[in-house]
Amino acid sequence: MTHWKKILQNSVNSPTELAHHFDFNCSALEATNASFPMRINPYYLGLIQSVNDPLWRQAVPDPLELNDFVCIPDPLAEEDLSPVPNLVHKYPDRVLFLVTSECAMYCRFCTRKRKVGTPKMAITEESIEAGIHYIQKNKEIREVLLSGGDPLMLSDRKLDSLLCRIRAIPSVEVIRIGTRIPCTLPMRVTKELATMLKRHHPLYINTHFNHPRELTPQATEACTLLADAGIPLGCQTVLLKGVNDNAETLKKLFLGLLRMRVKPYYLFQGDLTRGTNHFRTHTRDGIEIMRDLIGTISGMAIPTFALDAPGGKGKIPLTPDYILNSTEQLTFHNYQGVLCSYPESGDPL
Ligand SMILES: *Cc1c(COP(=O)(O)O)cnc(C)c1O
Ligand code: SF4
Repeated sequence: MTHWKKILQNSVNSPTELAHHFDFNCSALEATNASFPMRINPYYLGLIQSVNDPLWRQAVPDPLELNDFVCIPDPLAEEDLSPVPNLVHKYPDRVLFLVTSECAMYCRFCTRKRKVGTPKMAITEESIEAGIHYIQKNKEIREVLLSGGDPLMLSDRKLDSLLCRIRAIPSVEVIRIGTRIPCTLPMRVTKELATMLKRHHPLYINTHFNHPRELTPQATEACTLLADAGIPLGCQTVLLKGVNDNAETLKKLFLGLLRMRVKPYYLFQGDLTRGTNHFRTHTRDGIEIMRDLIGTISGMAIPTFALDAPGGKGKIPLTPDYILNSTEQLTFHNYQGVLCSYPESGDPL
């Protein structure tokens, strides 16, 4: 099997190169490409079936990215919430630690579009050192989330040594890795990687699939290796206009993930990140989709639909409103729309 680094070297990095594979007006995309990085590796490129299909939209620059006058570069105020560069401390007991600036593909809707894949995201040995030092000093930090960029872009050796350093901090209980690589470059997940990760339990991985067509045999194989290493797998999907913003597509995605032993964890409302406004749906649409899903498919396949509040105010679950009245007894509609009630203690049945 070709080494994953070799595969990455053959990525498409410009609209002109992409024009060798698809028939479209590539000059219209040059300006966008100059503003935000593009990388489509041969594996993900092979999943795109046609211009503007749901996989194309996730990977290929769109002139609309430069037409976004609504959104802002850093809507989650991550830079303000960073006590040291590339470490975000928003919630008291957990931190988000950005350990690489690179990804196996640059997603057009990326929340950290302002810096991921660009020299603006300076991850150095010093910034990693400063992050580890901060975690050591702040003993209320129970959980460390590794993100980036994509942490699985690090070599096994580098990632292993980083995990060892974090594991050596007694106050850290759980390590979580956020990675899109099982979806975008599943051949990166090797037996060796799984064996190495297994030495750092309790370790959780949240991956990121957005469309059922991403659930390929290779992706299944990657998730199997990780799950067999005892790593609980979750998925953070983003609700994206023109990609997955309907109940039918998401139902297929979530049930497919469950078969791959990946538990849908969050479905995110799009962040207000500059260059991504054309992907944003109305929150009402997401809530209606959740109403269609809850009860009709396995509860195991249902993620929490949430938005990340602007300004770093935290994640807010957005749940369909079932409760009609709660004064005497709780009355609500069930998943079929049938009116039901539940007596509070003391109420006669
Ligand atoms: C999302 C996020 C977390 C993790 O939140 P969970 O609800 O525990 O998944 C932690 N820190 C930051 C800065 C985040 O944005
Ligand atoms: S893999 Fe994640 S961090 Fe990387 S570009 Fe995609 S969304 Fe952004």
